Amino acid sequence: MTERRTVLILGGTGEARALAARLLDDPAAPTVITSLAGRVQRPRLPRGQVRIGGFGGFEGLRDYLADTGIDAVVDATHPFAARITANAVAAAGQAGVPLLRLRRPPWTPGPADRWTTVPDITAAAAAVADRGGRVFLTTGRQDVGAFADIDDAWFLIRVVDPPTVRLPARHRILSSRGPYEPAGERALLAEHGITVLVTKNSGGELTRAKLAAAAEAGVEVIMVARPAEPAGLRAVDRVEAAVAWALDPG
Ligand code: NAP
Repeated sequence: MTERRTVLILGGTGEARALAARLLDDPAAPTVITSLAGRVQRPRLPRGQVRIGGFGGFEGLRDYLADTGIDAVVDATHPFAARITANAVAAAGQAGVPLLRLRRPPWTPGPADRWTTVPDITAAAAAVADRGGRVFLTTGRQDVGAFADIDDAWFLIRVVDPPTVRLPARHRILSSRGPYEPAGERALLAEHGITVLVTKNSGGELTRAKLAAAAEAGVEVIMVARPAEPAGLRAVDRVEAAVAWALDPG
């Protein structure tokens, strides 16, 4: 009898949870371990084994791969989690373990969208400082600090867990977790008189509704572009493709 293979999923996304479930449902199911950073207080847990917390840089991840006998790694982390993606490339390379990046496609603007695309969160804060107004900030709590010094705008800050960084003087915190529906997003924009929406180009369906609502209401979107990923990274954008690869990385 052949030994069961072990797949490590670097997680923290809906795609990572879907991948774990699909692999475990396969007749040739490997052992599946999902790794979470431990950023949110009550993470949505995937099926299969779960480990939580950083590895201690790429060397820590490299040693974990060797010590745990990992046969394949799927990096299904968020498109903006650039550090763990770079660490995965270095660690898997040194450990000689095959690596696949599962990355959802970015959102693209339609004719009704009013997007200003900026390269990073600092540029997004500069764009907001230029405009002022009533801002719907949906970049996640780690990035809220970039907006702390903007006094000429009011912020509706939507986060899963309360931010621990300094916040802009005029704001309201809205604690919630998606998925979101268009009707609710429309109502939120109207209720708070939102004039600018700030978002990272995360892609995916769970948080897309805010973009349609903004387009409908004529609200400008400051869209933070994705960070670059290491060159030569083998990548797919669909869970099914990652399932096929993880079952047979070749
Ligand atoms: P990051 O900047 O790329 O990573 C920072 C450090 O966190 C890494 O060096 C690593 O620590 C640890 N880490 C990150 N992801 C990990 C994982 N899946 N398992 C174990 N350790 C992990 O990441 P981030 O932007 O803080 O995001 C953290 C996690 O939240 C990611 O797993 C991501 O999928 C999820 N997430 C992020 C966003 C976002 O907007 N950035 C949005 C939704 C979900 P060590 O160096 O000690 O190993």
